[in-house]
Amino acid sequence: MLIVQKFGGSSVANPERIKRVADRVWRTRQEGNEVVVVVSPMGDTTDELIALARQLSDDPAAREMDQLLATGEQVSIALLTIALHELGAQAVSLTGPQAGIATDGVYGKAAITGVAAARLRAELAAGKIVVVAGFQGLAPNGDITTLGRGGSDTTAVAIAAALQADRCEIYTDVDGVYTADPRVVPEARKLPVISHDEMLELASLGAVVLHPRSVELAKLYGVPLVVRSSFNDNPGTLVKEDDGMERAHMVSGVAHDLNVAKIGIFDVLDQPGIAYRLFAALAEEKINVDMIIQGATRNGRNDIAFTVSRTDLKKALAAVEKVKEAVGAKGYTYDDRVAKVSIVGAGMITRPGVAAAMFEALSAEGINIEMISTSEIKVSCVIKESEAQRAVQALHRKFGLDAVGQR
Ligand code: ADP
Ligand code: ASP
Ligand code: MG
Repeated sequence: MLIVQKFGGSSVANPERIKRVADRVWRTRQEGNEVVVVVSPMGDTTDELIALARQLSDDPAAREMDQLLATGEQVSIALLTIALHELGAQAVSLTGPQAGIATDGVYGKAAITGVAAARLRAELAAGKIVVVAGFQGLAPNGDITTLGRGGSDTTAVAIAAALQADRCEIYTDVDGVYTADPRVVPEARKLPVISHDEMLELASLGAVVLHPRSVELAKLYGVPLVVRSSFNDNPGTLVKEDDGMERAHMVSGVAHDLNVAKIGIFDVLDQPGIAYRLFAALAEEKINVDMIIQGATRNGRNDIAFTVSRTDLKKALAAVEKVKEAVGAKGYTYDDRVAKVSIVGAGMITRPGVAAAMFEALSAEGINIEMISTSEIKVSCVIKESEAQRAVQALHRKFGLDAVGQR
């Protein structure tokens, strides 16, 4: 079998742990499998590098940030390969560009556009374990790019898809995908299986255990995807096609996201082309807009509120400032102390009253809802950041996710 194994930062945080990872990889190889390993930087390296740049500039150039952050993985791939050599394994490390990972040119959140897998195939054919740097690739102009926080998961699935691997295993510091972030809800339970669609929603709504794009690619290319602990041999969570079983449960999981900021614009003109002008200005700056709410019209004027990620707030406010007059706005405000809490479940499709139950749980906690958005399989609310933890715990209880007997 051909197996891709990805190890996150905490799994390679120090030499001891790197040795443990090397042992596991070597064991998989000795069982007769071909192995490609994808690794993140050691521990909190990425955060430390960001902090370092911040000491020099409030607004470092995106290109240089990618140049900087891509160094983290170059350290861990080399160290892991050295550890594998010590075990007697044949292994070689490759950076993203060396491994043929091609991306678009959007620094800081590049999308993988293809994997030119000739080198990977040649190294595997030579009997080697190939250790690839996650999170990075090569832009059309020859620059190094990074895929956004958590992006190593996506590197792993993209490689698994390109090589038509039998399995992609994501090893991390939890035993699998839980009904909520176990750091916030200690009673959260591990899900033995979850559908692609539910996992994609959870990941997009803040469950950082998997990078959203990795789930998308796994679904698109039919890559069997497993999330497991790198610290034990417990069975993990299988992410798979929805076969209808998931629908037995109204809600499968609760997610929260603190990387949220809200912007409100008052009294814009109620005319065709206003929303277009506003959101085109944001799109031009490559800012993802999440929820959008336009209030009821009064005297030919509307209020528009929307959310962006907190990391994009500064850029978003600059874009709003630019089009403020063109859309006839009387003013705008922002709030970066908000959070988004969400419930996700394929079973919602067939059951009315799920949103009402969510609002009931939040109201019982005295938590005010500032914005709401729904899709077929999720309901999200924007609330105060300081109330997020309590909200997640209350929702987890409300939907019986800690109850024994639930899956
Ligand atoms: P890695 O460095 O291995 O990529 P991450 O920190 O990116 O690890 O992801 C693992 C973390 O995801 C866990 O420690 C956990 O706190 C968090 N997490 C958030 N939501 C969930 C969830 N629903 N299930 C499991 N873990 C979750
Ligand atoms: N190094 C990146 C991060 O910390 C990518 C990853 O670990 O998945 O976000
Ligand atoms: Mg991660």
